[in-house]
Amino acid sequence: MALTVVSGTGREWRLTERIGSGSEGVVYGVDDTRPLVAKLVLDPPDPAAYRRRVARLVRQRREPRTVRLLSVTPPRVAWPMVGVRTASPGADGIDGYVMTDMRHAHRPFAHLLTPFARQAPLPRATWATALSVARSLARLLADLHTEGYVVGDLKPDNLWVDGRGEIGMADVDSWQFTDGGELFPGRMSTAGYTAPERIGAPAGTPPDRSSDDFVLAVLVHQLLMGGLHPFAGHPAEGGAYLSYDDNVLHGRCRLLDRTSVLLPRAVPPLDLLPRRLMDLLRAAFGGTRPTAEAWVEALASETAPGRLRTCAANALHVHTVERPWCPWCDLAERSGGTKTAARSATAEANAAGPRRPGRWGRPE
Ligand SMILES: [Zn+2]
Repeated sequence: MALTVVSGTGREWRLTERIGSGSEGVVYGVDDTRPLVAKLVLDPPDPAAYRRRVARLVRQRREPRTVRLLSVTPPRVAWPMVGVRTASPGADGIDGYVMTDMRHAHRPFAHLLTPFARQAPLPRATWATALSVARSLARLLADLHTEGYVVGDLKPDNLWVDGRGEIGMADVDSWQFTDGGELFPGRMSTAGYTAPERIGAPAGTPPDRSSDDFVLAVLVHQLLMGGLHPFAGHPAEGGAYLSYDDNVLHGRCRLLDRTSVLLPRAVPPLDLLPRRLMDLLRAAFGGTRPTAEAWVEALASETAPGRLRTCAANALHVHTVERPWCPWCDLAERSGGTKTAARSATAEANAAGPRRPGRWGRPE
């Protein structure tokens, strides 16, 4: 039986296909002439609090701070348009909200992350596109912070990209914000995308702008390094790899200390990064976190005319002018000339695959 949702004013929508599910909700298509979807949150810890949170976000849609954020086409944020509840006779409904379908103008963030993943959906995307996405993401986060919002659960699953290098963000209902003096705390966090001070912190420890800034740096690193997580790698001192978060807590990161991790030899080299961005990443992971605004400025300057060079052998190989020869050609050679090998090196590193002799080692 098809699900129907109804708003507080009695407006009904029929839900169509199930599009996806996340840590706390399920997203469905909505039968409407506009590109809309509905997110239903199956089991919120406090349903009344959740409804109030959504109602406040819907109301904020008309506030100047939110209007400023949403005044970009296509929209950068899938803001809740109206709170809804499933219409199921004789049973408590499931709460959620209707929002813009980000698939209308964007693609999932993961489709841009690696050269292999982007081949089919974004065939013309290059390192320059990834740089633009990083800048758009930093711009959006800086704007959110200026308007008093904290994302809290910033992660690839909540992000969208387009071929022009623009970013989109969903799951606004997990953000932290204040409304009429009341704090609506961020509740969620995701392994691998959590600032060190929040890892293992008591439940309910609120995020802040600085914890968002840490995750921004993780995402910038992934965008610019072909998807590689900055804290990927087996502990070089021996012992088992546990998780990205364990590496974060122990400072195991190639950028901070090359001798701290073992990585597949065919992962993207560090000198792919312009010096200024490398310095910012080191600061972000080493203690003095740059703000989103600082990232905007640095990333914008790296996309300025004259800062990028295209490889003579392959027009999809774009790199910083600081690199005298093409790092992507180098990488292809290192991995035996096959894209598959380069792809599997990053995937292997991110998944902490088996340390195969000859393929893994201390990064150069
Ligand atoms: Zn090349």
